Amino acid sequence: MPFEYYFFLGVTFILGTVIGSFLNVCIYRIPAGLSIVSPRSRCPHCETPIHWYHNIPILSWVLLKGKCAYCNAEVPVRYLLVEALTGFLFALFFFRFAFHSVTPVVLLLVAALVVITFIDLDHQIIPDVISLPGIPVGFLCSFFVPWVSWQSSLLGIVLGGGSLLIIALGYEFLTKKEGMGFGDVKLLAMLGAFLGWTAIFPIIFIGSLLGSLVGVPLMLIKKADSKLAVPFGPFLSAGALIYLFFVQHLDPIMRWYASMLQQLWLSFW
Ligand SMILES: [Zn+2]
Repeated sequence: MPFEYYFFLGVTFILGTVIGSFLNVCIYRIPAGLSIVSPRSRCPHCETPIHWYHNIPILSWVLLKGKCAYCNAEVPVRYLLVEALTGFLFALFFFRFAFHSVTPVVLLLVAALVVITFIDLDHQIIPDVISLPGIPVGFLCSFFVPWVSWQSSLLGIVLGGGSLLIIALGYEFLTKKEGMGFGDVKLLAMLGAFLGWTAIFPIIFIGSLLGSLVGVPLMLIKKADSKLAVPFGPFLSAGALIYLFFVQHLDPIMRWYASMLQQLWLSFW
């Protein structure tokens, strides 16, 4: 690998941590209905505006030992985690797609999914302000992603939103309670817009698998009732990123799967 490759891998990681720092603001402010651009970040404890040199991703948290520089109030380790995770994911997908035209689209999707994941973990909601505009943005991006045609993107929106809507309504009909939020429906429609219709079932499959691996032990420990106690958004997001990372390795399987569905569809007519 040439030197420039490693240089840009490092740059992408640092860019990811800077974006991650901004995502922390989004995660905190979007559910509260606050502006994500102003005012400048403040310590929630002593309300002192945070200087740029106390706001360097990862480094500041480590150097200040997770404390506010003015009042010594604790800064949750979550802030560090989100910055490091975003940096890691940015580097991982640069490693995967390098200078391909798809990389900016992928990084945009990664940033959106990080925000969605942590807001869903905190509040059990998926913010409409991200998932709804994400649908047309994903559709527009399909013109730059060689393996997702605009037709596939459009079908992905319908299939992604539609399939979860049916599951959600079916669950409600059978159990008379709400198991899956409609936020998940809009999230999967957004993922369908970005990744195309062939991604929908792999994402649901990987997401459900991860969800049951984590959710079932959690339910046993907490002795929760049969209502879904664990938000599904983080697992759908993880499913989408895993799918995206392996998408080209999945290519032969996906082509077989697409042609099989196509034949099934044609046999109806
Ligand atoms: Zn403070």
